[in-house]
Amino acid sequence: MLLSLVIPVFNEAATLPLLLPRLRESLRDFRWEAIFVDDGSRDDTAEMLTSVALSDPRIKVLRFTRNFGHQAAVTAGLDFADGDVVIVMDADLQDPPELLPRMVALYEQGYDVVSPQRVSRQAETAFKRWTATLFYRALSRLSKQQLTNDVGDFRLFSRRAVMAIRSLREQHRYMRGMVAWLGMKEAVLPFERHARAAGETKYPLLKMLRFAWTAISSFSALPLRISIGAGCVLSCAGFLYMFYVLYLAAFTSELVPGWASVVGLECIFSGMILLALGGIGDYLARTYEEAKQRPLYVVTSVRNISVVPRIPERAIILDSIDVTEVVDEGAGPRLVEDVPLFRVRG
Ligand code: UDP
Ligand code: MG
Repeated sequence: MLLSLVIPVFNEAATLPLLLPRLRESLRDFRWEAIFVDDGSRDDTAEMLTSVALSDPRIKVLRFTRNFGHQAAVTAGLDFADGDVVIVMDADLQDPPELLPRMVALYEQGYDVVSPQRVSRQAETAFKRWTATLFYRALSRLSKQQLTNDVGDFRLFSRRAVMAIRSLREQHRYMRGMVAWLGMKEAVLPFERHARAAGETKYPLLKMLRFAWTAISSFSALPLRISIGAGCVLSCAGFLYMFYVLYLAAFTSELVPGWASVVGLECIFSGMILLALGGIGDYLARTYEEAKQRPLYVVTSVRNISVVPRIPERAIILDSIDVTEVVDEGAGPRLVEDVPLFRVRG
């Protein structure tokens, strides 16, 4: 049995030296490969991966031209994993390698998906824990598929689960939702999540919020429909109020003072309308992006993997791959320094 690990990495030079020995130790009894997907790192990650890959053919590397995001990196890894079992894990040791053998044991009992569940989130800020709980609750209310609570992207997939996931090629990806959508047989394995081994989180608050919205809008159209309901209620209330005002004007001599309240209400309702329009606009933008059918990622170089016979759908694998020297691509545009300055004669 071959075990494939899929490890997305973005500026993880600080954690890689800690990760590799622990991986090797935990997987002593297995035949394994690890596919590192370098998501456009700008530090020494690429060089480090290259040097390990040169001495160990089990270490495979896919390098993106730029940062395509964690979910795209996971997708690429799953596209090229050969294992009978594939495990997706983070590089920062928050997903302990020591858990891997137990996950495989559950796979051997016949589960297609094994999901380690975070029972304690040690050293995560109270704010992150609280928002995470809130998010999981909200999402399970909003979408039809039941997400397993407190399960991240650290997961084991059987070969057939991987084949199924590969065929889902949407642009705005929320892997946890996709797994729930597939509805394959799943085992949940509680574990304690520790703090990052080194370096900083690559998911700052804003990126996290954007990700949460991707999750909600990819798996539920409810936010779109909420505005319909709110609109109905408000218009009915408006009509009733109009009748009431007409009644006051016709049968009583009371004036209608209170400009302030009118202006206030006007602001509130205009705000709500703009919000609803914004929500609809966002869904429209996502539909537009999906309709373009853009590839999900661009691979600029690979190591220890043969990609040519199997280029996946919606992916670009550039030429001149599997380079042997250390290359320095994918870190954004560079100023070329050794070239004489180009002057325009005036
Ligand atoms: N990551 C990535 N691309 C990104 C952001 C993160 O490949 O744009 C990787 C990162 O290197 C790590 C994993 O995804 O291996 C999870 O990121 P991180 O640990 O920073 O997230 P957190 O655990 O703080 O949510
Ligand atoms: Mg982490």
